[in-house]
Amino acid sequence: MERLESYVAGEWTPGRGPAHVLVNPATEEPLAETSTEGIDLAAAVAFARTEGGPSLRALTFAERGELLRAMSRAAHAQRDALLEVAVRNGGNTRGDAKFDVDGAIGTLAYYADLGAQLGDARLLADGDGVQLGRSPRFFGQHVLVPRPGVAVHINAFNFPAWGLAEKAACALLAGMPVITKPATSTALVAFRLMRIFTERAPLPRGALSFLAGPPGDLLSHLGGEDVVAFTGSSATGATLRLLPNLARESVRINVEADSLNGAVLGPDVAPGSETYAMFLRDVVRDMTQKAGQKCTAIRRIFVPAAVLATVQGDLVERLRDARVGDPAQDGVTVGPLTTAEQLRGVRAGIERIAACATVAIGGTGPFEKIGAPEGKGYFVPPTLLVAADPDGAPAAHEHEVFGPVATLFPYDAGAGHAVALLRRGRGSLVCSVYSDDRGFAAEVLLGAAPYHGRVLLGSERIADQAPGPGTVLPQTIHGGPGRAGGGEELGGLRGLHLYAQRTAVQGSRPILEAILGTRAEPRPAAAKP
Ligand code: NAP
Repeated sequence: MERLESYVAGEWTPGRGPAHVLVNPATEEPLAETSTEGIDLAAAVAFARTEGGPSLRALTFAERGELLRAMSRAAHAQRDALLEVAVRNGGNTRGDAKFDVDGAIGTLAYYADLGAQLGDARLLADGDGVQLGRSPRFFGQHVLVPRPGVAVHINAFNFPAWGLAEKAACALLAGMPVITKPATSTALVAFRLMRIFTERAPLPRGALSFLAGPPGDLLSHLGGEDVVAFTGSSATGATLRLLPNLARESVRINVEADSLNGAVLGPDVAPGSETYAMFLRDVVRDMTQKAGQKCTAIRRIFVPAAVLATVQGDLVERLRDARVGDPAQDGVTVGPLTTAEQLRGVRAGIERIAACATVAIGGTGPFEKIGAPEGKGYFVPPTLLVAADPDGAPAAHEHEVFGPVATLFPYDAGAGHAVALLRRGRGSLVCSVYSDDRGFAAEVLLGAAPYHGRVLLGSERIADQAPGPGTVLPQTIHGGPGRAGGGEELGGLRGLHLYAQRTAVQGSRPILEAILGTRAEPRPAAAKP
């Protein structure tokens, strides 16, 4: 069986001792094994800091952007091989695999373009400069400089390619070296991607390291100049925040965690309209794509009580078309969950919500699977539950079932009620509002925005363009408050801020401009208290 290696201190390095076995979740066939035991992680951190950091910081943004472009092109050239691995190790349909792999390629290319636009600079001005004294000579300017440590990236199992690439793109462009760690269960895709990068798009030594499995004592070696960017469950996120050295040294940590994303159908939207079709499409896509294992997937669906039965019927009709099975087989549209643990968790989650809702389709009973060996595979059918009492049903508002599962609720058609229900998620990555009534959309937006990192306003004007709330675009931020982790990634240049120190520089304007290469316009000083 293939044994994965880690790439640390500029070398591919095997772990010792007992290994974790990676399987094909459709067949449970072992695919590879990996161990990180015995790898000197203190040395890996030191190497990234002392070799990778200085090399990256010596480059201009344009030069760092060129590194990202080479990574994007190298991954694109090996796209088919990556897709094949994602189907086998991730339980992805080919479409699901493209979502992950093309997302990685596209995000690297996007940040490569930003690097080119920033050109020869090595630091970023943050906003305009400001006049601080009586005359314009005394001047202030905020700048963003690369943090001198290492960025440790910990990713969830569902996006092994995109998760690695989107975090690495921001950190590398900002000038910080990276140690990236995929979830162990789906590490094969990330491992292949790293092989491609080291062989076909080599970065400066120490700029990008890779840990193929459990993190060991990696985080215990971090200090105040370092950064942690974590994606995964709220429980793990909370554990990391409380690690003594992270707390003591104020290690910057970004957490992207669970989410109970809501979709609201406006009372103005008639079944049969374009906006209604967009709403149905987005819900069904989010329930079935990657077998619902997307942090941004719609989990709660709120519709006016008057159309509850119609919406339920339309969703059930579409979900009935889903063909669940081994994604390597033709015609399969929904693959398995990624691990046995996921299967247990999702089945338990369905039972928990079913205690306060009825199952409209799917559930935990027997169902037909295409092409999977008898009794094998971690399959769950698309499952729609309906909660008649939206203000009750606590499990459906509080428990993220990380699979092809969503709950449909009626609301009383008022924007205020829809907002109150969205807020019961206690902070989510995204919500979507489907309405051509600007007043309704505005009211939900204003009420829901403080509880969400992103709001998609679905309407007939964008129905043919928007890819739905489940797709993370690098131009806009990804993250959310509260239970979603309180983090923020991407969002164009905002994505670099996590990896930069914002420093206020005060001094003589001409001297500052000469040193910093900024050309900010002065603004009148704020009135002194
Ligand atoms: P998880 O169990 O929290 O694991 C996430 C990552 O953390 C894995 O790489 C895991 O490594 C690592 N990890 C676990 N314990 C650790 C520790 N003590 N120290 C350092 N690293 C540790 O989550 P998951 O089951 O993989 O992912 C599913 C969850 O992620 C869902 O709840 C989903 O909502 C969330 N998610 C959120 C986003 C987002 O952007 N907000 C995106 C995707 C997923 P091992 O695999 O080696 O254990």
